[in-house]
Parts: sequence; structure tokens; C-alpha cells
Amino acid sequence: MTAVRAAIPRPRTGDEGRPASLTAFIPCFNEAGQVDEVHATIDAELSGYPDLEILFVDDGSTDGTLDKVKALSAKDPRVRYVSFSRNFGLEAAHGAGFRYASGEWVVQLDADLQSPPAEAPKLIAKALEGYDVVYGIRRERNDPLFRRLGSAVQQRLAQRLFGVDLVYGSSVFRVVRASVARRAVDLRLATPYFVATMPLLGARWATVDVAHRRRQDGGSRWAVWRLFTHSAELFFGFSLRPLMWLYLAVACAVPVVIAAGSVGVVAGEVVLLGAVGVLAAYVHRLVRGSVRPALFYVREANIPIAPQDSLYAAGPVVREAAR
Ligand code: UDP
Ligand code: MG
Repeated sequence: MTAVRAAIPRPRTGDEGRPASLTAFIPCFNEAGQVDEVHATIDAELSGYPDLEILFVDDGSTDGTLDKVKALSAKDPRVRYVSFSRNFGLEAAHGAGFRYASGEWVVQLDADLQSPPAEAPKLIAKALEGYDVVYGIRRERNDPLFRRLGSAVQQRLAQRLFGVDLVYGSSVFRVVRASVARRAVDLRLATPYFVATMPLLGARWATVDVAHRRRQDGGSRWAVWRLFTHSAELFFGFSLRPLMWLYLAVACAVPVVIAAGSVGVVAGEVVLLGAVGVLAAYVHRLVRGSVRPALFYVREANIPIAPQDSLYAAGPVVREAAR
């Protein structure tokens, strides 16, 4: 067995306190109209970093995003891509970005350039002070009101009511030590909710204020229902307190039902329905965890892909095995 001496890895730095290697990672879902501009902007803002990799994760786009990315990769050897067999969602795309980044550090960007690459050096400089993850905090967030309000309520509820450890106000614009990010992915959690997973690992974190731009091209790829599914993932995936609150509600409802006659019966029915709902949410998570084959499957890439992530990797030949 190889012994591992535990120590905080000292950042290997190039010139002027720069990391030795950096991956700029961009998840893309139907962003054909944006890919060229994203590439040009990253090239303009981050080319000064040694050993820069520009990693596009195509999350099952159907609009020619992959063709655009391939054209870029033919011209620019720093461009790498991983393309999913279907749309697996942003968390899966993050997982692939972390798993396949070649850089020591990963900066997470987006195709609509709402997280401006010009702000990334601030996050990187902070990270090199000795953190594992540095979150960008959008002081002026240019998103619709329901998104801003929804996120704020979701994160506060998670923290205060359900005791989930996360960094309030943190966005997906962040710089992460790739080795630590891969630990989070390798946990294979049913909910790969990065911001709530990092504290479970004991990752050292810091925040830096960043600018945030309005989305330029079309609407957000984010649907309203995602706020609800995301919230459910966060609350039920990282806390058992919803069950605790439920037991409390049931315990309080019993005397009310007895004392208040028919009104009480209605209140009791509401609590009962709530109870069934919360229990169903946990059972659903258990079942899903046991049947979900993978976080994502890769159809195409210009880098080597682990067999368990590849849709086409040769599995065991069943007829051979049966002989
Ligand atoms: N995205 C993705 N998979 C999805 C949805 C979005 O890879 O299922 C990408 C999208 O192309 C963009 C980034 O994630 O690069 C952020 O998405 P979007 O701008 O729609 O979200 P918002 O900024 O509104 O949070
Ligand atoms: Mg956006």
C-alpha cells in the first residue's frame, strides 16, 4: 500500500502567482449562438495563464452546439470537449467538468457570459492564498426577480430551518481545486449539489464579490420548476430535519383534531397529506439512488473517457460470459 502524507498542497505557481495549470469549464445546453463569443472572450481574458484548457461540456444540445465546439477545437488545441448522450442537467455537466478537467484549478463559467471571465483572476488569486474553493458572490445579480427571490428563500430555508451547511449567496461562478472537486463527484451522491457537498468534505472556502451580467442570448435555460426540484433536492438530500418538523406537526395536530371537531379533521388531513408527501420524497430518493445508472453518459469527446462514463465503452460480452 502506498502511504500518503497528508498536507495541504502548496499551489504550484507559475509567474506572478499564477496557477501552474487552469481549466476554464463551460457547460452548454443549446448555446450554438454563444460558443464562438465565449471562446473569444476566454481567449482574450485568460490566455495569460500558463497551460490553459478550455473545456466545453455539451449537455445534450440539439442545436449544433457540438459542431461549433468541434470547429473551435480544430483551430485551437486548448479546446477540449465532452458531449453527453442527452440532456442530463447542469449538476451532471458540472460533474463532468470536474472529472475531466486537466488543470490543477477549475474556473466555472457559463455560455451566456453572465459570469464574466474578466472577473476570474480575482477568484483565482484568492484561491492561491490557500483555499480549495472560492465562490463568486454576485452583489448585483442581473436575473429576474423570481430567480433572485427564489434562490434567497431556498438558501435561507436550507440553512436556518433544515440546518444545511452552505455558503449563502454563492453562485456557480467559482474557482475550485480540481482534486477536491473530484472528491465531491466521486461521492456519487444522489444529489450532486456542489455548494452543500463541499462543507461535507471539509473544503476550505472563501468568497469574492463579482460582477454579474444580464443574459444576452434568449431566455435562461432554467425553467421555473427547476427552482422547486432543486429546493427539494437540497432539503431532502442534505437534511433529515424535514422529517423532524413533520413529526412535530403530527404531534401538534393530534390534540387539535380531537379538540376542534370538523375543522380539526380538515387540519389533520392536511398534516397527514404533508406527512405522506415528505416520506414519499425520501423513499423516492432511496429508490432513485438504487436504480440510477450514472450521473451522465458521454457520446463523444476529444479526450479519453472512463469506460463507466462512456455510452459506447465495451461492457462484458454476455454470450461470452455465459459459455
Ligand atoms: N446549462 C446546461 N444544462 C442545462 C441547463 C443549462 O449545461 O440543463 C448551461 C447553459 O448552457 C449555460 C449554463 O448552464 O452555459 C447556465 O445556464 P443558464 O444561463 O440558462 O442559467 P442561469 O444563468 O439562468 O442560471
Ligand atoms: Mg445564465
